[in-house]
Amino acid sequence: MGAEALLSAVADEVSGCTRCPLHVGRTQTVPGEGNPLSDVLMVGEGPGVREDATGRPFVGPAGQLLDELLQSIGWAREQVFIANVVKCRPPGNRDPEPEEISACRPYLDRQEAALDPAVTVTLGRHSLRRYLPDARIGEVHGRLRRSGGRFVFPMYHPAAALHQSSLRETLFADMRGLPAALLAAREAIAAERTESVQAILPDPAPPAPTAESDDAEQMTLF
Ligand code: SF4
Repeated sequence: MGAEALLSAVADEVSGCTRCPLHVGRTQTVPGEGNPLSDVLMVGEGPGVREDATGRPFVGPAGQLLDELLQSIGWAREQVFIANVVKCRPPGNRDPEPEEISACRPYLDRQEAALDPAVTVTLGRHSLRRYLPDARIGEVHGRLRRSGGRFVFPMYHPAAALHQSSLRETLFADMRGLPAALLAAREAIAAERTESVQAILPDPAPPAPTAESDDAEQMTLF
């Protein structure tokens, strides 16, 4: 099954999910959307009121800022895949509870496995915690990190800049570093794949003996 079909299967399951209490107050589930062939996955926290109403991620004010951030490096949201750690809106836009994130985790795990991204951009501390549980956003934002087998590029959540204007420039500065981080991750992944292929290839066969070498070998026998 290809990435598109796998992502569609996740969205179908999410639409009927009752695994955690967040299903009670939702209008629509927000499974995520974007390019199924992208090697960039962006992970936010949870749907807000506009996302809950439309079933689409990052379409409110924070989403407009995310669009601006992507445009600032010449990207469009259609080039990446955008998801959240929880697929249903926490009431009153509160933070998702650890139990809710945990209940929803298998969906994001499967989305990530389907996309197999070169870089996962974490937007905010809840998605950062999924990859780097002990990291502080203020110390790691805007720098490519490794977590298990994944490359992670932590950023502040765009909503944070709506409340704290000084973070706006930080977000744009971090975003400017994303294309180079993606390139570095792609190169590292390609190098690791080459190494692993070389590790499983048999040793090259010894050169076939030539008539000249046969003569030389025979001469040594006498
Ligand atoms: S937040 Fe996730 S686990 Fe909870 S009901 Fe929605 S889809 Fe299911």
